[in-house]
Formats: sequence, C-alpha cells, structure tokens
Amino acid sequence: MSASDLDKVFGEKGLIARSHGRYEYRPGQIAMAEKVAEALSEKRHLIVEAGTGTGKTLAYLIPAIAASLEKNQRIVVSTGTKNLQEQLMEKDIPFLQRALPRKFTAAYMKGRSNYACIYRINKAGDQPILEGLDQLGHFRRVAEWSRETATGDRRELDDLPEDLPFWSRINAKGDTCIGQKCPDFDQCFITRMRNRAESADIVVVNHHLFFADLNVRGNQFGKVIPDYAAVIFDEAHLIEDIAADYFGFQVSNFQLDELVRDAATLPITDAGLTREIDRAASKVHGLAEQFWARFPSARSDGRFPLLPDTFSQRTAQGATRPTPVGEAYVALEAALQRLDAAIAGPAESLPEAESLLRRARQARFDLDFVVAQTERNFVYWMERRGKGFFLRASPVDVSELLREKLFDKVGSCILTSATMSSGGRFDFVRGRLGLDSSRTSGFEAPSSFDFESQAIAYLPRSMPDPRTPEFTQLAAGEIVKLLMATEGRAFVLCTSNQSMRALYEQVSARVSFPCFVQGSMSRAGLLERFRETANPVLFATSSFWQGVDVQGEQLSCVIIDKLPFSVPTDPLVAARARFIDENGGNSFADLSLPQAIISLKQGIGRLIRSRSDRGVIAILDPRLRTKRYGREVIESLPRMRITSNIEDVARHLARSEEKKDGAHAPSLPDPTSDESLI
Ligand code: SF4
Repeated sequence: MSASDLDKVFGEKGLIARSHGRYEYRPGQIAMAEKVAEALSEKRHLIVEAGTGTGKTLAYLIPAIAASLEKNQRIVVSTGTKNLQEQLMEKDIPFLQRALPRKFTAAYMKGRSNYACIYRINKAGDQPILEGLDQLGHFRRVAEWSRETATGDRRELDDLPEDLPFWSRINAKGDTCIGQKCPDFDQCFITRMRNRAESADIVVVNHHLFFADLNVRGNQFGKVIPDYAAVIFDEAHLIEDIAADYFGFQVSNFQLDELVRDAATLPITDAGLTREIDRAASKVHGLAEQFWARFPSARSDGRFPLLPDTFSQRTAQGATRPTPVGEAYVALEAALQRLDAAIAGPAESLPEAESLLRRARQARFDLDFVVAQTERNFVYWMERRGKGFFLRASPVDVSELLREKLFDKVGSCILTSATMSSGGRFDFVRGRLGLDSSRTSGFEAPSSFDFESQAIAYLPRSMPDPRTPEFTQLAAGEIVKLLMATEGRAFVLCTSNQSMRALYEQVSARVSFPCFVQGSMSRAGLLERFRETANPVLFATSSFWQGVDVQGEQLSCVIIDKLPFSVPTDPLVAARARFIDENGGNSFADLSLPQAIISLKQGIGRLIRSRSDRGVIAILDPRLRTKRYGREVIESLPRMRITSNIEDVARHLARSEEKKDGAHAPSLPDPTSDESLI
C-alpha cells in the first residue's frame, strides 16, 4: 500500500473522512499506517507505540486488509481483551466493510469455552448436570437457543446470569471434546467457527486463544486458528505474561473435580466396570482434597513459590523423605493411576472414555512436572484464588520459545500498544519477547493530544519514602487536598489492595464526594456508577490501570500512590529477576524499572482520552525526585507541565472551565508556582 494509497484513505478528503462524520485527520495515524504497510510488505516485524488518540485500530486494520487482498493471504489480529475483540468485530470492521471499495471478509474466534457443545447439551438430558431445580429454566433456555443460534457464542445469552453453574458442563472446551467421532461434528459451533475463519481475509482472536493455539499447533485436538501469513497484536504489552501461562503447565482442584465428576457419568452399561470406575474416581476425589489441604501456605489468597523441599526433604542421615504434602501427592498419583487403568478398557470403544483418559493422563503428566521441579528454566509456584488451588510451572524466559514458535515462523508480526517503550527505546520489549533486532523496527506514533496544554503533573514536595509507615497517612492528606481542588472526579490508582483500602478508609471519611472502591461491585458496575455520579472518586488497583475509558471532565484527575514496581516476592517476578542477574544482566535496570514505567504510562493514559480532555496527573511517590532513576521515569512520560503547588492544579482546571465557557485563558503560568516542563 503506497503513501498515495494511504492518503486516499486517511487524507483530509479521503475515503474515511467521506464516510465518517466525526473523522479527524491525524498525522500520527497515517504515519503508523505507512510503517505497518511497509512491515507487512517487507515481511518484517514492527513494534509501534501508539498512545491514546492515535487512532491505531484503523492504522493497522487498513494496511492489513490491503495486504491480505493483494496477496490473497490471511492476517490474524489478536487483542489483549475480549472487549477490544468485540469492538473490532462490531464497530471498526463493519465500518470498513461499508467504507472501503474492495470487499473483504472477517471472522472472529474466541476460546472454545465461550461456545456451546451441541453434543453435551443433547446428552445432558441423561445426566444430572444441574445443581438445583432453579436452574432448569435457564437450562431449557440455553438448549432452545443452541438449536437456533448461528454462532453458539455464549455472549448472545446476555439476559442470563454471567455465572451459569452448568455452563462448564455443556461448553465446547477442548479437553471434553470427542473430535471427529462426535455425531454432531458437522453442526458443531467450533467446526463452523473454524470454517468461517478458513474463508476469511482477517481473523480476529484474543491473545489467550492465540497463545493456546500457538502452543498446540500440530495437535489434532488443539489447533483452531487457520494458518496465517502475518499477525497483528494490539495491547501487545500483555503478551509476555499470557504466553508464559500457555507455555507452562498447570493443575487445579477444579480440573481434578471435573475429571472425577465426568468419570462418574460415563455412559457405561457394564455394572462391574461402572463400580470400579466409581471407586477409583471417589478415591481420587478424597485424596485430592487431602493433597490441597496440606499445602502450608495455601490458607489465604496469593501466589506462593514451590521450593525444592516442598514435596521432599533430606534427613540428617542424607536420605530423602517425603513431606506431608509429598506423601499426599504419592497417594493421589496412585489413585490417578488406578482411575487411568479403570478407564483404559472402555476408552478403546467409547469416545467419552477416550477423551477422559486423555485428560486424566495430561493431568498426571502436568502434576508430575510441577512436583518433580527438574526443568531449570521453569519457576514452580502455587496460586490460591477463592475456592481455587492452582499448581503451576511457568517458563522463566519466554523469548526463546516465542522466537522459535512465532517470530521465526511468521512472516510479519506487528506489536502495538499505547505503552511499548521505556526511556524512548524498545529494547525492553524486544529483549523480553525475543524479537531479533535485525528484522524488527520500532516506531513511536506521534499522539494527536497536546499534553503540554491538556495536562499538568502534580508531584508533592514533602512526601516520605513510600516504604515508611507514615506514607499512607500523608498520602491520604495529599489526596484530600487534590480532591478539593478537582472537586472529586478522580481515580486513585493504588499499587496494592492494602493501600487501596487504607487510602479509601482515610480519604472517604474526610471528603463529601461519593467514594467508590474496587471490589464493592463488578468492574463494569463501578465504571457505570462512576460515569453517572456527580463528582465521583474511585479507589482501585491494577485492573483499572488499563483498558478503562472515561471521557470528559467526569475524570479530571488520576492520582497514583506509588511507582508501580512489580511485587518482588511474586514467584514469577522473583524468578525472572534472578534469571537476569545470573545471566550477567541487572534485573532492576533491565526488568523492574522498564516494567514500572510501562505500567505507569498505562495508568496515566486513563486521563486524557480526547482532544478536549484536560486534567491532572498526581504521583505521590517521592522517588521520582529523590532517586536517580526518577529522571528516566519522568522523561518516559508525555511532555507536560510539572508542579508541586496545589494551587496550580486548581488553576489548570479553572482554565479549562473558562475555555469551555469561551473566556480567555491566561497565557502565562502563575509566577509564584514552581512549574517546569517534564
Ligand atoms: S465436536 Fe466436540 S465440541 Fe463439537 S459438538 Fe462434538 S463434542 Fe461438542
């Protein structure tokens, strides 16, 4: 796609301007589209940082569609979240299908568990899948819908509760699918989804599906995404963690419970065999409970490392002796082995037993892998979340795996996000993901927002080190001052649940603005309340640092309590840092700092969402001023005015009010302030 082609599409009188009443010409957008078109045509990889307001979605979609039609090749677009995936399929792609002269086809694919399994729904009539009669109405509704829907996508059932307890027993997830032996294979929603994608020019997936697929390409039950010539990752800053999840191993209590439950409902008529399978399954059930209960660190939610002596210890005489949890593992493994033996016979003729046997063997393999802890490149850990226990082994460094499975195999990979660089460079992302520098270029698309006039940064002068006990109380005082100046309308983004709760309690008692706190209702519910309430204040943690969009003066201030360094005791974070240090690097400079900068930029990105937005970014962490690395952090942020005078904050917002009312804003900052430019 040449520069003149791009101008015909993006230009001030181009195709988009003619089809979209509110289209704004943005030089950053067209510059990004040029780079994407170049990378696709030259089969190179590209990293693009495109801050809010660039219009990055069209900047990659249009060159991708052109490249796909020109070379008759499929291009995959992978998003970090299902929300963005839906936005692409419901808004951006239909718009382009109307606006562009050449016709193209697009299909979306989600993870298998989003789709209904026709076979399991039909079978459910014979099996006790409902936990109570109150679910009968919902089940009938789902069964009726499954006969009419074209997609089988659970999202169409938006009038039913999100947490349908029986959904996990009738969805199309891979480990319960019996594949081509299924009598409903041709009608299956997964088969239909795959067929639609096979004939589409653009296939939209999310990173979870992309990496699940990448990990099992070549396996007949795994591969879902049809072959592609190029892939574009939007929200690409999320890739490393998601890839580590899918390249690793995991066993959970839910997985073993489901195995036991499905074993008990196998359609076997031989009474002796059924008794044997039931006995073996109930043994697994009891021993699994004992196994999970014996983890000493698993009484509260969190992530805990599994150490070499978690399962066995050396005695004073040098012998190896299992710990209590190690003993429980040995008993559980024997019970799983017995269950395996009991199902192996029927698995030869019964597809349900065959798929169950496959799952049981996979669970044993994964469990053995985690317990043995022999692979040095992996970190072994446990996560406790609500009623869930998860044992995991994750690769410490995914760069080799990504290089081998993705970057060396796929012609062109485009990685974009609002935050990809740190200190103006892409070395961090390139290194973490294994992108070869000779085949990869980086590009920072200029933003269409003018941060210098739209935003002001407030860094208070007298805050103590955030690790001191008095920090929270003084931070609460600063937040109260800021809220008075901004009349609420603020997000207070915290780096931990503990500081979020403490700040919420101290601040909400001292201000009259309506205060909301994360956890009091769903994320979507909180955002709705925030948008609808006058002068609101929301206290939140990591999940609100990204993917949240509140435009206009309703959100006029983003307050960040501390620099968002990853928790150093988190097993994955600690293992990655150790790996870097042991290989001659510096984990602070190569990992902790760039990661914190990228997270901070995500948080700040919540503030300015349109050209008319104005607001205040307050960072209460004094290390920005007192530590040497503070300058690097500041230089990585959008260029804007910086102050430690609270009156400048009020003045900045007052100017936007005056502008809104048509009055003249003063052209010079107040001489008493200590404003400087970031
Ligand atoms: S092929 Fe698999 S997912 Fe599809 S209907 Fe059959 S069992 Fe369900």
